Amino acid sequence: MGFRAVITRAECEALDAADPLAALREEFSLPEGVIYLDGNSLGALPVRTPERVRRTVEAEWGKELIRSWNEAGWFEQPYRLGGRIAPLVGASAGEVVVCDTTSVNLFKVLSAALRLRPGRRTVLGDGAAFPTDLYIAEGVTGLFEGARSVLLSSAEELEARLDDDVAAVVLSHVDYRTGELLDMAAITARVRAAGALMIWDVCHSAGALPVELNSCGADFAVGCTYKYLNGGPGSPAFLYVAERHQDAAVQPLSGWFGHARPFAFEAGYEPTGGIGRFLTSSPSLLGQAALEASLDVWEPVDLRAVRAKSLALTDLFIALVEPLDVEVVTPREHARRGSQVALRHPDGYPVVQALIERGVIGDFRAPDLMRFGFTPLYLSYAEVWEAARHLAEVLESGEWRAERFGRRGAVT
Ligand SMILES: *Cc1c(COP(=O)(O)O)cnc(C)c1O
Repeated sequence: MGFRAVITRAECEALDAADPLAALREEFSLPEGVIYLDGNSLGALPVRTPERVRRTVEAEWGKELIRSWNEAGWFEQPYRLGGRIAPLVGASAGEVVVCDTTSVNLFKVLSAALRLRPGRRTVLGDGAAFPTDLYIAEGVTGLFEGARSVLLSSAEELEARLDDDVAAVVLSHVDYRTGELLDMAAITARVRAAGALMIWDVCHSAGALPVELNSCGADFAVGCTYKYLNGGPGSPAFLYVAERHQDAAVQPLSGWFGHARPFAFEAGYEPTGGIGRFLTSSPSLLGQAALEASLDVWEPVDLRAVRAKSLALTDLFIALVEPLDVEVVTPREHARRGSQVALRHPDGYPVVQALIERGVIGDFRAPDLMRFGFTPLYLSYAEVWEAARHLAEVLESGEWRAERFGRRGAVT
């Protein structure tokens, strides 16, 4: 039978030839024969990263030793990298800092939000959110007398639940499973009009599309750097605090890096001014070195071009797989779509494993979603065409039924 595509491979190659982002592919080191559709989970390795990490290891650490805290700017690194992420998420330089992990940063900003709204005790979150966000909300509310975390069954239910007990709302800008994009401006305005604070998780939108934290009026945000930002496995996360909150907001992980005078070694805690009070402890400098290299790649990139290509790639993939025996779960409207496509299939797990064996790397999210991430910096239209052809062949041949594809590893 073969793959009866709505567009030919040659037409995709023509799109690649006209792609203004095509040259960025050379900034990435991807194995031969792999079509990587999982950059929404772990971004690819930038070519310049090993050298940048080696510099920190061999020169800054190996030769300069402790002098690097001053001479290599280690101490300021969380601020400097935050300042470079700021334009990617629509923030000012002093509103973003790089530190810890997304979960830890959510703990800090959510605690600060509850303290800023002392008369209110409810935290609203989306019940379908990435679970760590829900677990952290449970953990934080457990520490505040009378506080509770309420899960919405959908973002639409928000309106009905926004009463004068709501201190904060935590939502993901893009849903990690379905790829649905929320209207940040409208939701933030609604939440703030109700007197609550809006915390955005931008893990699946930072580096995937233009994010406008400031112009949308967001109060706080958290995000990771190992997905679309390509910072490397476990690379440090970032957090955003709107300037208007920075002097009043107090977070409970009051470590010495957030102190006004860390090297005075005083017994009492006094938070420093600005975003620095959201720091806790020594930065993970090897992870930050890798992140710095990936931010060099981002430096000249126009996020509008990224968004245009992302929509074109996801449109293409949706058009190619629509005739297959799968359900497209990701919204078709551009305004509601992030940079991934989720397909429902009852045997999604073994189908994804069969694709991986063919070199097409996507992933699976229980119970039945196959997830494919589209990263405009290093993905071509021709690769998207090939990925759809492989999926068509895997489904048509039934090769996914082989016993080896059913075994699950610890990480799916
Ligand atoms: C990836 C992701 C996280 C990851 O949290 P870590 O603390 O880095 O493990 C959190 N929230 C969302 C929405 C994510 O997509």
